[in-house]
Amino acid sequence: MAVFNHVSFDEHEQVVFCHDKESGLRAIIAIHNTNLGPAVGGCRMWNYQSDDEALTDVLRLSRGMTYKNALAGLAMGGGKSVIIADPKTENREQLFRAFGRFVHSLGGRYYSAEDVGTTPADIMIAHDETPYVLGLEGMSGDPSPFTAMGTYLGIKAAVKHKLDKDSLKGLKIAVQGVGHVGYYLCKHLHEEGAELFVTDIHQASLDKVATDFGAVVVAPQDIYALDVDVYAPCALGATLNDTTLPQLKASIVAGCANNQLAEPRHGEQLKQMGILYAPDYVINAGGIINVSFEKDYDATKSTAKVEEIYNTLLSIFKQADEQNRTTAEVADEMARAIINGTQA
Ligand code: NAD
Repeated sequence: MAVFNHVSFDEHEQVVFCHDKESGLRAIIAIHNTNLGPAVGGCRMWNYQSDDEALTDVLRLSRGMTYKNALAGLAMGGGKSVIIADPKTENREQLFRAFGRFVHSLGGRYYSAEDVGTTPADIMIAHDETPYVLGLEGMSGDPSPFTAMGTYLGIKAAVKHKLDKDSLKGLKIAVQGVGHVGYYLCKHLHEEGAELFVTDIHQASLDKVATDFGAVVVAPQDIYALDVDVYAPCALGATLNDTTLPQLKASIVAGCANNQLAEPRHGEQLKQMGILYAPDYVINAGGIINVSFEKDYDATKSTAKVEEIYNTLLSIFKQADEQNRTTAEVADEMARAIINGTQA
């Protein structure tokens, strides 16, 4: 398993492989870039099929955090961690204590938080071992409602740009993954009168959005080909790929999942298909924005900053049109200018 020659290695500053015999913890922490401040990004727990799969994920996710934090205007670099384990594992106390000790060993170069497969309660356990965790209960708390709010506003920006509509009323929206973020997103969309189509691999989550918001439930493989206005990927990454793109009927792809494009060329393909893509790390920055207010937490200030996602996306969409480039390229270029201190 190569690291420096890995296809997803992008001049990462530090990659730490963690093993704790007592708890069985196997984790990787990746610090991508600290130009703007300490690296910040959540901890994902997943049943990775191989160490290489976990490494690929953490390298890509940590890079995404650098870009996300920069474009959200935060004084934070990018990092991420993955724990190779069943997200439903019972052994959480030992596991997250061990994880917390590894985070602590980095001396504040990396701050962790909740992500897929982990909960604010897990992060509280890690906090017993280190102060270098964010999104704590009783402080900024669960970032998911803020990620959902930003994603909702991002969908509105995409609808404004592509369909010239100020409201989502009557629009058909397909949401893939109705977990922490997906549930709150469906709530916003339902309250504005959108018609919801949802899928998940967890039946109880589906039942809840069907009951609470009248969402129509479809099988996981059927979500792509639905005749909808917006496809919102809110589960895992790489769902925009060679198999799914030909199926899409939506004119907008806008959701909270990280790393939605399997490869950069899929962003170009979406453009050629006339589908407007809201770059993932821009639309899903609400949670990290909220986390950035952890010290002296102020929900009003945090909300106001999350609301900036709407205008940031409108500006990216406009520039992409004017320059005949993909939205992902424009976002990357804007982020790089901030990271390198070369923005106009
Ligand atoms: P979550 O684990 O609570 O929800 C993910 C949901 O997707 C789960 O309900 C899961 O059952 C479902 N799922 C998994 N595989 C699926 C498949 N193949 N088809 C359909 N559904 C599937 O995670 P979350 O916190 O809601 O995050 C969702 C996405 O948003 C992730 O990609 C995450 O990295 C990203 N994200 C989350 C936050 C946050 O604040 N939680 C912030 C930024 C980005």
